[in-house]
Amino acid sequence: MERQAVQRAKEAFLSGRTRPLEFRLQQLHALQVMITEKATEIATALKQDINRSQYDTPLLELIGIENEIKLATEKLREWAAPRPAEKNLLTISDEVYIQPEPLGVVLIIGAWNYPWALTLVPLIGAIAAGNAAVVKPSELSECSSLLLRDLYPVVTGGAPETQELLRLRFDHVFYTGSSTVGKVVMEAAAHHLTPVTLELGGKSPCYIDKNCDIRVACRRITWGKFVNCGQTCIAPDYILCEPCIQGRVVECIRQTLLEFYGADPKCSPDYGRIINQRHFNRIMGLMEGYTPVVGGQSDSSQRYIAPTVLKDVPAHSRLMQDEIFGPVLPIVTVSDMDDAINFINEREKPLALYIFCSDKKAIKKMIEETTSGGVMVNDVMMHYALVSLPFGGVGQSGMGRYHGKHSFDQLSHHRACLVRSLGMESVNLARYPPQDRRRARR
Ligand code: NAD
Repeated sequence: MERQAVQRAKEAFLSGRTRPLEFRLQQLHALQVMITEKATEIATALKQDINRSQYDTPLLELIGIENEIKLATEKLREWAAPRPAEKNLLTISDEVYIQPEPLGVVLIIGAWNYPWALTLVPLIGAIAAGNAAVVKPSELSECSSLLLRDLYPVVTGGAPETQELLRLRFDHVFYTGSSTVGKVVMEAAAHHLTPVTLELGGKSPCYIDKNCDIRVACRRITWGKFVNCGQTCIAPDYILCEPCIQGRVVECIRQTLLEFYGADPKCSPDYGRIINQRHFNRIMGLMEGYTPVVGGQSDSSQRYIAPTVLKDVPAHSRLMQDEIFGPVLPIVTVSDMDDAINFINEREKPLALYIFCSDKKAIKKMIEETTSGGVMVNDVMMHYALVSLPFGGVGQSGMGRYHGKHSFDQLSHHRACLVRSLGMESVNLARYPPQDRRRARR
């Protein structure tokens, strides 16, 4: 089945069908219609998969997909047009330009936590750039994957099917998921010298400066950490702050949680569930040995873990090794901003860095002295929603970038074009042998 899907995509690409801009626009329009018509079913599927609030699915996934389609539709002609390049003296009378052209067949492998955005946003880029695509959603978000399969031709399956796919040859592989599987993908792609985009994860730090408005900071952090039950690649993974504000941070998060999800988040229609038992056990295991200052309750039969905060977490504990990817928020204390910067720089480059601070100079310093896929000041995750910003990781958090024009560029080949006439041959004589004739001309 995998082979057939790839063969069909190859034939479609080779037939030239995917190249005309009209075809690309038509495909984008069809996606738009699908999203609009099926919005309720999509939200219901996610309710079944992770008990996601019906209200969150349009906000967290569908609006973003629609914005991407709208932008690509409006800008396609501009993006796909030849881009003039600067000339030098030797090329003054030539035509010099960069022509974006499709790569061919793109394999898109999605993750389960935002199963629509993580497959369709790359697909929008692939279509806009004139490619044919093979889409493989995650098997873990089962209801969403099955619905997507009903609406759009995709290849379904888990690790064995994905590995089967990866044995075949593609022109680009666009993978979203964990760094561990990212290595499997890159290794398989290397056999064919296929370029990859890897949208991975990691521990995204969140630094709170003692002089900022801690109440507002904690409200924004609480939303970003616990939405989708903490299963968001750019969720703040942990908080760094000075010991003197730790108590207040805990209190502000506690109050916000009460406001968002009520006294018992298990009964809240806005609070999600863990995707499966394996992840439930993994997250529960991470909490072993700690006494939560907020939350800590769980119910394995529902894969429910309460929004949980842990304070004074040691810097080298197991909780601080791997991405948490669940509703557990550790607080690690640091002595000051420099200490926070060192803490961040001693670890893998994160996908996102969050800084809550009101001092412009300090913000600039922290941005300058650290690195991450993206950085956001005084809020969390909203940089993902801005199509003008490239979204992607650096180092272990990934390679390549997408969203808006960045997707188009990522999934295009930028062909160097130099078009010259056969006239003016005298200009070229200086580069032709023999040597003595060349010397004489100089
Ligand atoms: P997942 O288990 O759904 O895996 C992702 C994809 O890889 C799926 O399609 C799955 O079928 C496939 N896969 C899984 N194991 C495989 C294997 N051994 N060989 C080949 N294919 C395999 O998702 P996940 O990995 O649990 O996703 C969570 C991770 O993804 C987190 O680290 C998170 O931060 C990251 N993530 C990153 C982004 C981003 O945009 N950067 C977005 C979402 C999630």
